[in-house]
Amino acid sequence: MAEGTDEAGVSYDEVRRWIRGFAEAVAENKAYLTELDSAIGDADHGINMNRGMQATLAKLDGASGDDIGSLLKTVGMTLVSTVGGAGGPLYGTFFIQMGAAAAGKSRLTGDDWAAALDSGIQGVIKRGKAEPSDKTMVDALLPALEALRSALSDGQSLGDALKRSAAAAEDGMKGTIPLVARKGRASYLGERSAGHQDPGATSSYLLLKTAAESFGSEATD
Ligand code: ADP
Ligand code: MG
Repeated sequence: MAEGTDEAGVSYDEVRRWIRGFAEAVAENKAYLTELDSAIGDADHGINMNRGMQATLAKLDGASGDDIGSLLKTVGMTLVSTVGGAGGPLYGTFFIQMGAAAAGKSRLTGDDWAAALDSGIQGVIKRGKAEPSDKTMVDALLPALEALRSALSDGQSLGDALKRSAAAAEDGMKGTIPLVARKGRASYLGERSAGHQDPGATSSYLLLKTAAESFGSEATD
């Protein structure tokens, strides 16, 4: 039965479920993410993200209250303090800035979710200085935000808008394959970085996919 998130928005528990779902997806795709990073980086993206998300899960066990902003901030701080390299701090910034936008809220409407996502992405862009088509996580995140906003402004349900957002992230991820990297380690390869999917865009797709699954009507737990 379709119920739940559409009118009421996203609850604190659903945000927790999303973080757990993302941690599971990263663990399941650890080898894949690392393999992608071995082609154009230093073969550690899956290892880095998994270390950070496992540390996050341990932190969340002790978290209490119903403030989505502080929950997301905890996720971000944990990633910043446990993950080296570029990806961890960028994801850390993403969650910290999402948390700032959601501060004091125990539910998020679709527009609140879009605003939080926007804030997270702006944090990544400010810190990493990547532009669209630089072959980074931004190439999955920005199209996801655009698709989300246009679906919401078309009057679609939050569940449908989240699915559209995840599909746009997937297209953006695949769209990184032909690109030449202009940021991060992959940029050291120049033209040779073309023909490979960006690892960070891939983990960002997993992030939006698990959001659609965790906030959608199939979510049961
Ligand atoms: P490192 O490159 O330090 O080994 P990871 O392997 O964990 O870190 O993460 C690599 C990913 O980080 C890339 O695939 C890319 O998506 C992302 N990335 C790297 N530099 C930037 C940047 N300046 N802006 C946005 N994303 C970046
Ligand atoms: Mg790497």
